[in-house]
This record gives sequence, structure tokens and C-alpha cells, in this order.
Amino acid sequence: MALSVGISSELNLSTPPLPPSRQVDCSNDAFAFWKLPVECRAPLAASLAASERVISRYLFEEYLSPRERQPSLALSCYYLIKGLIPIGLRHHINALAIRARKRLDFPRWPCETALVDFWRDWLRQSLQRLGIADTLHIGFWPHGHRCSIVLTHDVESPFGFEQIQRMTDLEEQYGFRSALNFPLNQYRIDWRKLDDLKARGFEFGAHGLAHDGRLFRSEHDFSALAPLLERFANEQGLVGFRSPSTLRNVEWIKRLSFDYDCSFADTDPYEPQPGGSCSVFPFFLGNIVELPYTVPQDHTLIHLLRRDPLPVWTTKSQWIASMGGMILTLTHPDYSGTQPHLSTYGELLKRLNDLECAWRALPSEVALWWRQRSQTHLTIKDGVPLLTGPGGDRAAIRRLSEEALAK
Ligand SMILES: [Zn+2]
Repeated sequence: MALSVGISSELNLSTPPLPPSRQVDCSNDAFAFWKLPVECRAPLAASLAASERVISRYLFEEYLSPRERQPSLALSCYYLIKGLIPIGLRHHINALAIRARKRLDFPRWPCETALVDFWRDWLRQSLQRLGIADTLHIGFWPHGHRCSIVLTHDVESPFGFEQIQRMTDLEEQYGFRSALNFPLNQYRIDWRKLDDLKARGFEFGAHGLAHDGRLFRSEHDFSALAPLLERFANEQGLVGFRSPSTLRNVEWIKRLSFDYDCSFADTDPYEPQPGGSCSVFPFFLGNIVELPYTVPQDHTLIHLLRRDPLPVWTTKSQWIASMGGMILTLTHPDYSGTQPHLSTYGELLKRLNDLECAWRALPSEVALWWRQRSQTHLTIKDGVPLLTGPGGDRAAIRRLSEEALAK
């Protein structure tokens, strides 16, 4: 039977973005990931700095050259004429460009295991070093949930805006809520029309200013546009960000005052800036919590690859669930809000609804949890486990031998 636990209708939209000074343990090292008992930390200290270097290489796409970690010159030229090309022709040109582009050998798509393999190996070696076969850790999700499901949408145009209701109604039928991201200076957004959705437990985020390639074109452009983006987002109480076309720069995103970012994928070779963090779990991007999208986009599958999205969506979601990770979808009302794609999305929701013991959460809730988990500590005194810290009341103490990812 499907469980529908963990749904929260609590909204966080009136909360202003956290100041950059918020300080939590923003480490992404292997200890911070597994959250073993604090007593284990000192004997493993020597391996932690090295683990963070390896992990950062994946998370921040350092396996790519610096040139590959920024929008290409050809892309900047494309944005100059993009507005003149009708949308159907644009999809066609993009599909041809994707096919002509040299495929990256790494990360693999749709599933890349390199980081998962590293976390597992580190854990196995660490337990050996400690001379133990098993121990406890702080579970990845609150209240003992086995994985998490986060639904997000980018609303690209007035047409997409009109289709929102159909997608959100469908989500509610299955007991889900989602986050909708809007480009804040691309078309007129009637925020009053979204009041009802807000009251029903949906969340809104900033999808940059516009799909014009400017925000990450140069540091000069970023410095000029980021304050405007933050001001528009502040006016609407938006705490989440996804970059238009997922163009990104690790160091610049860290400077934004958002609570969370969703501009990275775990693996996405089909975006204008291909790559991926290899992570199906949240991680820290400075003080920002990064929530990578982990399920291939509808736009990629429908318009670029011309494939039925459902088989890939199902396989990937099941793979993530089997490891206890975060299933984070990115779909667009512009593409999935009309038939036949709306029915396909409904089928995905039905399958996600069948996943047992999954935490259904809004991005802001996952970001808050990941911060709390990072500040919560597990100690074992005289054989008795004890949790201290802000996540202590909802964190689950789990045995590693019962954790799928540890096997
Ligand atoms: Zn977009």
C-alpha cells in the first residue's frame, strides 16, 4: 500500500532569504554525508580532507575543464538571435545541435554511480579502520523515511502559466505539492492568480530573470544582474533559485542570498551547459543548499530526444529510491501541461505514489532538513545513542547494515 506520510502544507514564502552570514556546518566531506557517531570522527580525521577533495570534484563538476564549466561562446551567439526563432523551429535546431555535439564520457546518463561508489568505498574502509562491522548513523531523511520525492516546475511563458492548474490539480489528486519557478523579468506574472496555490501548499521560486543567457555570461553581467534578481525575489518572498537553462557557475551561485538552488543535475549531458554533480542527495554550495534535479527533464526527453519519458522516469526514480536518495523532478507546464504529455506526467505521479515510505517534501523543506541534519550530532554513551541539535526531534537513528546505500 502506498504511504502518504510527510506531506506538509506549511509554506515558508513569507520568510526572507537567509543572510549570507548564516553559518552551519557546510562541509560535504564523507563524515558529514554519513553522519556517523561523533566518536568515530577523530580516528577517521586523516581521510576526511581527502574525501572532501574527491567529493567536491564531482559535486562542483571539477572533472570538467574551466572552459566547460561556463556557457560556450556559441551559446552566447545563439541567445542573440534566439528571440527571432519560432519555438517549434528552436526545438528542432536544439535537437540537431544535441545530436551533433560530442557526448561526454562522464557523467553517464541517466544514471552515474561514481559518487555513490566513492561514498560506499569510504564507508567500508572507515569501518575496517575502526575495527567494526556496523554502527549507527543519522538517517538521510526525517522520521525514518527511506527516500524523498520533490516535484519542481519551471514556468517558461504565459502559455505555460495557463497550464499550471492542470498539473497542480493532478499532483493534488495523488497527495503531492510542488514548487513552481518563474523567470522574474521575462513575462508579466500575475502573482494574485497564484494565491490559491500558495494557500493549498505549493511553493514558488525564482527562475532567474529571463532566458537570455546574460546572468552567467560574465562576472560583470552576474554582478550587475544578481542584485536585481534578489530584489525581485525578495519582493515575492522567494527563497529558491534555478538558473534559466540551468547555466551555472559554482562560485557565483554561492554569492546569491537564496536558501536553496536547483540549477545542477546529477547528470545532464543534454543541457546547454552539460555536466552534473553526480549526486542524488542534497549538498552544500557554500551556505546555499543545492538540490540537484535527478530525473531527466520532460523537455529533454520529449523535444530533444523524442522519446517517451515514462520508461526513463520510472527506471531512474526506482534506482534513486533503491539507494534512499532524492527523486527531484523538473517538468514544465509549457510542455507537460497539455495532452498527451499531461497523462504521461500523471502516470509518473501514480508510480511515485506507489513508492513506500517516501518523504514528499517541498524544496524549502528539504533545504531546511539538510541544514538541520548537518547541525545534528549522534553520540553513543554507554551503548545508548543520543541526538543533539536542531534536527534531533525528527532525525532517525539507523543502523548502517539496514541502509541500502551502505551495502
Ligand atoms: Zn527555463
